[in-house]
Amino acid sequence: MRFDEAEARELDAADELGRFRNSFLIPPTMPVYLCGHSLGLQPKRVRDCLHSELDDWATLGVEAHFRGKHPWVDYHEWFAGPLGRLVGGGTDEVVAMNSLTVNLHLMLQTFYRPTAERAGILIDEPAFPSDRFAAESAIRCKGHDPDRWLIATEDIAGELDRRGNEIATVVFNPVNFLTGRLGDVTEVVRLAKKHGCVIGFDCAHAVGNVPLSLHDWGVDFAVWCSYKYLNSGPGAVGGCFVHRKHGRNAALPRLAGWWGHDPATRFRMQLEPKFVPQPGADGWQLSNPPILALAPLRASLELFDEAGIDRLRAKAVRLTRYLEAMLDKMPAGRLEQLTPRNPDQRGTMLTMRIARGAKELVERLSERGIVVDFREPDVIRVAPAPLYNNHQDCWQFARVLQEELGR
Ligand SMILES: *Cc1c(COP(=O)(O)O)cnc(C)c1O
Repeated sequence: MRFDEAEARELDAADELGRFRNSFLIPPTMPVYLCGHSLGLQPKRVRDCLHSELDDWATLGVEAHFRGKHPWVDYHEWFAGPLGRLVGGGTDEVVAMNSLTVNLHLMLQTFYRPTAERAGILIDEPAFPSDRFAAESAIRCKGHDPDRWLIATEDIAGELDRRGNEIATVVFNPVNFLTGRLGDVTEVVRLAKKHGCVIGFDCAHAVGNVPLSLHDWGVDFAVWCSYKYLNSGPGAVGGCFVHRKHGRNAALPRLAGWWGHDPATRFRMQLEPKFVPQPGADGWQLSNPPILALAPLRASLELFDEAGIDRLRAKAVRLTRYLEAMLDKMPAGRLEQLTPRNPDQRGTMLTMRIARGAKELVERLSERGIVVDFREPDVIRVAPAPLYNNHQDCWQFARVLQEELGR
């Protein structure tokens, strides 16, 4: 490899997924956008998807629930197919609803069933604040002491071996939000089961980034958001997976709402007031879905279906390796890569500790049209998202970074 601009162009010209870049709006003043792990870019089709629902609302009013182009009464059903392909779940196991943290709370209501001897929730470090807060509050809501029962560790396997019989539920991040490390998911699931724990995944940084097989792995539940790699806009509607073996169990305790109720009798509320959950993940829905918030997800999932997560993953591995090779050439001592070097142990994102002035560096990059993100106190995260990023983005970033570090 020469690592020059002409070579980056050649690599992009040979990329079978290169055309997808044109399906996105690249911010004109920030052409090198490497922040898809935080907020994915807007697919051009989003505007049409939104306008279509606005038009139906304008011309049909309430009737759009049944006569709209995409009738709102079962609008959410479309999402289960494409989301299922991304996470490895059947259409009965996946639902688009709420936001990640809300879904985590809903899942913990069902899947965290502590006893006096086994009341632990195990989460992986470094932990995203919302995961920690959700777990802590779930423990408190069940009348237990989070200081004793919330266990956060980098060594999930070791902790399960040491005190698996005290842990009720594990909430594991297949891809860690901070370090980008892709965990040994099958091993974590195996150990959780071996010790009799329920196992749930927070897929915030995994969905749309790495292929997932939630059903085959035997994960009990999972949650994710859609504004990162899924490019569905700020605060977009998240998702939830419930394994089939639980989805069919109507007796499972849950927080219930009318949209999780059997659609056959949903509107006969005065006649049949008893809650009958519909089978599958759909049975955890609470409210009728926010159509305008869901519409952008439709545009994005169509692109994922066209590109295919396996092809995207293959491209991501190439792009991230290419980026890493250029970072290896940076001035000695200024960068420390926190993400594993083995491509099998990471997603698309590289996280680096910057020896001096990380925050100022990110600001200078931004002034020069390059978007990465900064985490206190000294960490930057850079993600080439394979749907719209390319070798030229990585090359531009590395060129400017080298100049800035040499100043
Ligand atoms: C992004 C992210 C969240 C965000 O939660 P929201 O409810 O969507 O605001 C939660 N957990 C992790 C690990 C994340 O990376």
